[in-house]
Amino acid sequence: MARFRSLRWRLTCLYLGLLAVLLLAGGIAQYFAAREVLFRSNADVLVSEYNAVFTAFKRQNASRPATVVRALILSQTFSDELRSRRTSAAILGPNGGLIASTPATLATSPDVPTLTIQDYRTAALSRPKAYYMATAADGSTSLVVLNVIRNGTKAIALAQLSIPTDDIDRTLSLDRQVAVIGSLSVLLLALLLSPLIVGRALRPLKQMSDTAGKLAAGDYKQRVAVPRSSDEIGTLAVAFNQMAAGIDQAFEVRRQSEEQMRHFVADASHELRTPLTSIAGYIDVLGRREVVDPQTLQASLAAMQQESARMTRLVNDLLTLTRFESGRAPSRQPVVLDRFVGEALDELSLRDKGAVESRDLQPGVTVRADPEALKQVVTNLAQNALKYAPGAEQHWSVFQADGRAAIRLQDTGPGISRQDLPHIFERFYRGEKARDRSTGGSGLGLAIAKSIVEAHQGTIEASSEPGQGATFTAWLPLAA
Ligand code: ADP
Repeated sequence: MARFRSLRWRLTCLYLGLLAVLLLAGGIAQYFAAREVLFRSNADVLVSEYNAVFTAFKRQNASRPATVVRALILSQTFSDELRSRRTSAAILGPNGGLIASTPATLATSPDVPTLTIQDYRTAALSRPKAYYMATAADGSTSLVVLNVIRNGTKAIALAQLSIPTDDIDRTLSLDRQVAVIGSLSVLLLALLLSPLIVGRALRPLKQMSDTAGKLAAGDYKQRVAVPRSSDEIGTLAVAFNQMAAGIDQAFEVRRQSEEQMRHFVADASHELRTPLTSIAGYIDVLGRREVVDPQTLQASLAAMQQESARMTRLVNDLLTLTRFESGRAPSRQPVVLDRFVGEALDELSLRDKGAVESRDLQPGVTVRADPEALKQVVTNLAQNALKYAPGAEQHWSVFQADGRAAIRLQDTGPGISRQDLPHIFERFYRGEKARDRSTGGSGLGLAIAKSIVEAHQGTIEASSEPGQGATFTAWLPLAA
């Protein structure tokens, strides 16, 4: 039962129903048109016959006086002239009164068909119709034509010619049979073919529902074959595939972000475990000793304090990173970069820490930023240069280019290796040389700088040729 409720069957039934109605309407129209043509052409033949006989009759009696000819026309003589093998003739007065009648030679009945008095009178007064139909007492029908006989303009009589319609009826009956058999054959063919055609047209829909099922079950790589035709189903298939690609992409992004989150948690745990293990080690050592000399205690406490400070820094870095990566917009205010970077560098007193610092700060370049966050970017870049390019020159510049503001640091340190360069902004990534804990940090400094700059709709980039120093540029949108 469900099968017959399917779209395929409903479309097939609709299609067949429509076809049946059209065939029926077409058949009926064609039948009546053919009937009219047959009747009219037979009526035309009768009129031509009449005209020929009338002209010949007048020519035969041309030598006689007009009154005699008129009397002959209104007599049995003319009626007899008019009849033929299948044609019956009659002469009637203009009021429909019968003057003379002659059945056809082959007529089975001696009765000549008659019309109503009204028909005869109307025909005499105006023009007769192209043809009339008369039904005899025995039920047989005849096709009748009337010709008006005039004296000048006055109608003096009607000449009636009629033939039985059995020949025409046979032709029409054959026509009906051909139409019925033809229509039934067309319907049968449509009944056989349309489920196949409709099924074929709807196949992509079935495929789409199967594919949707597989997508729902988690197979996001599933797609449907797009039919070559650019019809509604083709458009739907394209839209379906776009949707499937969108779902696939969304899940891929989710999978990647889950993967990143797992890495992040693993890396963070690993980083926190190191100082914790170290502190636990000191506590263990101290706990095992019955007597601890003051120097050892001092040294252990100092080491534990260092590890705890390291842990605090790490936790603070993680908090900063999550705050800026969460996508929450920082609270911004106009910041004039030359003044701001100058003050930040003064506070860092890089010269005291062994760097050769120089500045080229273009005045008036203004951005809208969270000053605390922006200061952290400057600090992280400066501290990296102190760590990885100790004693080298740090050249700081602020400028405006391509409609953006830039803060740039160029150092003359050892630079960054080609393997490290693409990864230095990743969380917990430490360059080859920085893996030694005495110099290296936790690998979060540049990731934090990146997250802050990006939270301000900016970008940060690094370039370096090994042995020739490193350049870091933070690009920020200019304040409107
Ligand atoms: P870290 O905590 O290791 O400093 P960062 O994210 O700040 O982490 O830096 C990532 C890596 O980039 C560092 O380990 C280092 O290898 C490299 N790096 C950063 N700044 C410089 C620099 N000025 N010169 C050379 N290498 C640098």
